[in-house]
Amino acid sequence: MVSKDVVFDEVRKVGREWVIRGRVKSRSRPNTWHSVEARIRRLESGEVTMVGKCDCEAFTRGHMVCWHMLHLTNVFIRNRRRLVRGLGISVN
Ligand SMILES: [Zn+2]
Repeated sequence: MVSKDVVFDEVRKVGREWVIRGRVKSRSRPNTWHSVEARIRRLESGEVTMVGKCDCEAFTRGHMVCWHMLHLTNVFIRNRRRLVRGLGISVN
């Protein structure tokens, strides 16, 4: 476990893109975990793009990029090496 409020269910590399699925704990409701999917890509310019979806209200009602998507992405990027090793994925 790399974070107390994020559980990773799937980490895959598809071409230049990372596909991350997991659950992120709600900040307002401690017993609620949101299902989150994010796809992350680093562009040649160095910029990072992220698209995703979440089952929280901000996203399903407001179509907003929510904190859960950003948090899943940030925790993944910070722990990428460990996560990739732990899940037995080989990356060049
Ligand atoms: Zn959300």
